[in-house]
Amino acid sequence: MPRPVVDSPAPVLPARQPSPRARRLTVAALGVCVAALLAALVTVLVHVNAASAGATSALTADAGHIPEGTIVTLHDSDVPAIARLDPALLTALRQAEADAVADGIPSFHVTSGWRSPGYQQWLLEDAVERYGDHDIASQYVATPDKSQHVTGDAVDIVPLDAQLWLIEHGARYGLCQTYANERWHFELATPPGGVCPDMKPDATA
Ligand SMILES: [Zn+2]
Repeated sequence: MPRPVVDSPAPVLPARQPSPRARRLTVAALGVCVAALLAALVTVLVHVNAASAGATSALTADAGHIPEGTIVTLHDSDVPAIARLDPALLTALRQAEADAVADGIPSFHVTSGWRSPGYQQWLLEDAVERYGDHDIASQYVATPDKSQHVTGDAVDIVPLDAQLWLIEHGARYGLCQTYANERWHFELATPPGGVCPDMKPDATA
């Protein structure tokens, strides 16, 4: 039986193949690119994680953060920002507050007390971002190694009436405004009944 004749297709010339060496090089180059991309991705993810973890841990009550709008008084002993203040400072502030209230001044609210070094660093970086300049930022926010808040030796008090009362009468209790540009910031800076030292112009002093 004759075999059916099949038109043989035109021979297809094989496409010009890269040499095995070129192929190996291409595969190697692709590998390097993928590895580099993965490394970059990992770096970005690690950074994002670190940034959010840093921001989160810097802004917790345990780090001394008091969220805006939260009312914290000198009697909130379970709040770390209050609990970790120097006991002598806290005692002086409570005595001052009692006398101020007797004078018709509203009770003192603490907007910031003790702060962890991490929280202080966060505040500094936040200020640098806000002012766009490290030197200007450091006039308002001290570095963690210099801040009296980090050692528990400073409080920021509101409202304005309380600030003005403390500026006038605080020395009786040893309490002084220590920075000319921070009317709300008080430290123990003189023996009770003494005279407050000259104010430093700002936190860079
Ligand atoms: Zn302060």
